[in-house]
Amino acid sequence: MSVVESRISFQTLLEANGLELKRTKPANLQLNVGKLCNLTCMHCHVNAGPGRKEIMTLDTLLKILAWFSSSDIQTVDITGGAPEMMPGFRFLVERVREIRPKARIIDRCNLTILLESEYEGLAAFLARHRVEIVASMPCYQPDNVEAQRGNGVFDDSIQALKLLNDLGYGVDPDLPLNLVYNPLGPSLPPDQAELETDYKEALQDSFGIVFNNLYTITNMPIARFLAYLKREDRLDEYMDLLVGSFNPSSVDSLMCRDTISVDWRGRVFDCDFNQMLNMPFRGGKDIHLWELTPDAFEDESIQLASHCFGCTAGAGSSCGGSLA
Ligand code: SF4
Ligand code: SF4
Repeated sequence: MSVVESRISFQTLLEANGLELKRTKPANLQLNVGKLCNLTCMHCHVNAGPGRKEIMTLDTLLKILAWFSSSDIQTVDITGGAPEMMPGFRFLVERVREIRPKARIIDRCNLTILLESEYEGLAAFLARHRVEIVASMPCYQPDNVEAQRGNGVFDDSIQALKLLNDLGYGVDPDLPLNLVYNPLGPSLPPDQAELETDYKEALQDSFGIVFNNLYTITNMPIARFLAYLKREDRLDEYMDLLVGSFNPSSVDSLMCRDTISVDWRGRVFDCDFNQMLNMPFRGGKDIHLWELTPDAFEDESIQLASHCFGCTAGAGSSCGGSLA
């Protein structure tokens, strides 16, 4: 039996706390458009990189957009890989804006892609379409960023943040710029509000950079980070930490309750982590988004496993930062 299997199950711990995890009305459509990325970060739960071929086709995109227009979902959260590398990325943003002019559109951006010569004008495109940017920035010091994301990534990230500030990001209320912190190793993130203050001071003082919010996110024990934990023989220690830090008050706000996660082939999952573990919505065969009506999600159960402890540890963790 593996370390993870030998522990109390997530479901059992929920029940022991008198908690039940069910879906509510969907509020977010999160599209993971593929695994192609210009970076290969150590903590990446997608195992993304430049050699990956999985990417959403135009046909799939059109089916998703047709489904979206039949729903009343107000948030479209685009992730990857580097989602901007999908050939239909700009088309997707333009169509969502046309279908729902006031929609919140989020681009989960690694910043460095904005500087690649092939993507010139991308930052201005995002600003023109009022796309909110959620950008990975695991530290405000170069050593930690480069240990996690690769050489040169810190300087490029700073340059990209300056470019975004120049376009009004982080200043204009219509152009939110939020940063994401995740720990370098097998520990829980520090207090989100305190770390946000430190980030704001450090980035402003050293580089004149401003941003809106910092989201602290716990590393999930899956994919590349799981491989790192095994390599370092620290999986046991990390799972002990996650299970021992279970926080019942985070459960009500878990993102799987109101988010629909869709993969590059249009298949539906409860969250991006379940997507990477190939645990489909409803737990059976693959279901495509366009095979379901928007009201088919409410009250459905959620597929749970040991990685879920990553979302409920300490202050809790989601794509929007801490929960509790
Ligand atoms: S963490 Fe983000 S930027 Fe890094 S490899 Fe994964 S998808 Fe790319
Ligand atoms: S891993 Fe996914 S399904 Fe599990 S608690 Fe987190 S968001 Fe919910």
